[in-house]
Amino acid sequence: MAERPHDPEAGSSLPVDFAARNGWDREYETYSDFDLPIYVGPSTFQKLPWVTDPAELRARRVDAAIVGAPFDDAVSHRPGARFGPRAIREANYGSGSLNSLQLDVEPLVELVVVDAGDANVVPAWTERAHALIYRKVREVAETGAIPFVLGGDHSITWPSATAVAEVRRPGSVGMVHFDAHADTANDDWGVLAGHGTPMRRLIESGAIAGRNFVQVGLRGYWPPPSTFAWMKEQGLRWHLMREIEERGAEAVIADAIAEALDGPDYVYLSLDIDVIDPGLAPGTGTPEPGGMLTREVLRAIRQIVGQVELAGMDVVEVSPPYDHAETTAMAANRAVLEALSALAVKKRDGRRVRWEVGAERS
Ligand code: MN
Ligand code: MN
Repeated sequence: MAERPHDPEAGSSLPVDFAARNGWDREYETYSDFDLPIYVGPSTFQKLPWVTDPAELRARRVDAAIVGAPFDDAVSHRPGARFGPRAIREANYGSGSLNSLQLDVEPLVELVVVDAGDANVVPAWTERAHALIYRKVREVAETGAIPFVLGGDHSITWPSATAVAEVRRPGSVGMVHFDAHADTANDDWGVLAGHGTPMRRLIESGAIAGRNFVQVGLRGYWPPPSTFAWMKEQGLRWHLMREIEERGAEAVIADAIAEALDGPDYVYLSLDIDVIDPGLAPGTGTPEPGGMLTREVLRAIRQIVGQVELAGMDVVEVSPPYDHAETTAMAANRAVLEALSALAVKKRDGRRVRWEVGAERS
């Protein structure tokens, strides 16, 4: 307004309508928490409802549920991944019913997606954290929702993939594992439950068979030949970064899909964000130069989830303290959205997405 309202009686005890005086009494449209800008309101994944009660997950017939696993006491190098779930949840400027330009679908409209909250984790107690991550993921998966687990360091894949494989029995689950590292060490300086060992624990325990394990993006200087020998004995299959450079990601992923489905009914997808080049995703614990492009990884996720029956997914090793421009958390957020969008296309096409408990293998 051109002039400020001035009331000579201001300061007197007469009742004054300050809202009217200041121009604050007009009608404004208000918005639901879901449609407000992303930085306003609750900080759940894409501001989806926070639903932690399994009975409620069942009642809503949830297709996909976000689960936080904020644990990083098993790292061998840089810490910080305990802050990953919160950062991944927040790493998007968009809110409301997102529209995937890649897949021409609105994933959060087509699917029932909620944020099922975090595993009941406390610091400095690895065994307890793994037990409670196992229980949380299992509790969610048993409702039929596909768990999307946000790490956390990569050790959380041991309890998480175990829980998913157990729920899907008597069917079997294959693993597609994106990582710069194989994570198949016997131990990290004597510790069996480190973030360099989860894949060996999964295979040794029988949760996922070695021959159903496919690794993509390995590079750099680890593991040593003795560990590769063990991997070979177990029937693991792996695709080095070198192969992606030579053949292109799409051809390599097509092979990885065929290998993961060579026997198993379902696939668990584990994405160590360090498979992406640290120039693009620096916020991680053990960065290894020379990795995949973000766009290659996002395309690979669409390719895989569109073709397999997804039983669960995790995104791990996002370490916000090293993520100076939040590009790592954004890549992780989009990795989840790309998988959700691929699931949404399936649901729209009448294909199965959520797990009907007790359903026989397809
Ligand atoms: Mn890893
Ligand atoms: Mn790694």
